[in-house]
Amino acid sequence: MSRAPWQREWQNAIRHPATLLERLGLDTALLGPARRADQLFELRVPEAFLERMEPGNAADPLLRQVLPVDAESDDTPGFANDPVGDHASLANGGVIHKYQGRALLIATGACAINCRYCFRRHFPYADANASSGQWAEALDYLRDDPSISEVILSGGDPLSLNDRRLRELSEGLVSIPHLRRIRVHSRMPVVLPSRIDESLIGWLTGTRLTPVMVIHANHAQELDMRVAESLQRLTRDGVRLYNQAVLLRGVNNDAQTLINLSERLFDIGVQPYYLHLLDRVRGAAHFEVNEGEARALMRALAAVTPGYMLPRLVREVAGEPWKVPIEWTAV
Ligand SMILES: *Cc1c(COP(=O)(O)O)cnc(C)c1O
Ligand code: SF4
Repeated sequence: MSRAPWQREWQNAIRHPATLLERLGLDTALLGPARRADQLFELRVPEAFLERMEPGNAADPLLRQVLPVDAESDDTPGFANDPVGDHASLANGGVIHKYQGRALLIATGACAINCRYCFRRHFPYADANASSGQWAEALDYLRDDPSISEVILSGGDPLSLNDRRLRELSEGLVSIPHLRRIRVHSRMPVVLPSRIDESLIGWLTGTRLTPVMVIHANHAQELDMRVAESLQRLTRDGVRLYNQAVLLRGVNNDAQTLINLSERLFDIGVQPYYLHLLDRVRGAAHFEVNEGEARALMRALAAVTPGYMLPRLVREVAGEPWKVPIEWTAV
């Protein structure tokens, strides 16, 4: 079977630190550390994402999200391999059912990009997800619990599955009468916008389930014209779009950067949804923004943006029935 353009682009993603540095005209002094940290979690950057980085700028906010650095081997107390306990709750064919009414399905462990701050960096998701077997066990779980009205496809990145696999899954989902919504958590529209093709849109909008997509962008510079066009095709066909961002030191821990992100998202039809405090995963401590700074940033953001553009500042806490809101109004 011939590959779709997005699949070729994914295959051709940059995998070598030397290539990344060379393409951006960056100092080869970065290469040693990048090679070392690449052993911990391999580098992967699609061309479409690289194109939005500023050549010669080692502090580029997009580059920082993907370039392996020495700080990743720091062992900081409190930073663990499975900070939100998802690995422990991974049962039932890849279904994580922590919140009432919504069940999250680890549809695949694969991603188009490897984000350095990701809790997936230590997760053996490759052997613990629904698609490695058939979908049957996950579908049985969903069918057996009538309180579940929304299924969330997550990962990894669920849109790294091909359309045939996605269709097999949705055929099972539509046959479960109590399901009303299908939500997709994906960074693909941002990092590999060619993924949003006719076939994918047809899949997402072609069932009785109401389609919702939560994308993941951390900085306005990630949202170029190609991304905007892909997202506009989704909204035109009735997909409700939200964004979750992670508050990351050196990437977006600055009021103006967060303002720009919210405004850019809104301009291209995406509702800012969550601003997550970093999950305390081993190897990502250098990205952490503490709660005090996060609250001050929210106040700065709230002072100048319409309320409907404000994301909710949250932290994921194992065992809590929702993402825990961080109170930020009091100084
Ligand atoms: C984040 C998350 C959800 C979705 O939560 P919302 O607040 O509805 O966005 C559902 N299940 C799990 C396990 C999650 O981590
Ligand atoms: S799961 Fe999301 S944050 Fe983690 S590497 Fe994949 S795209 Fe990046």
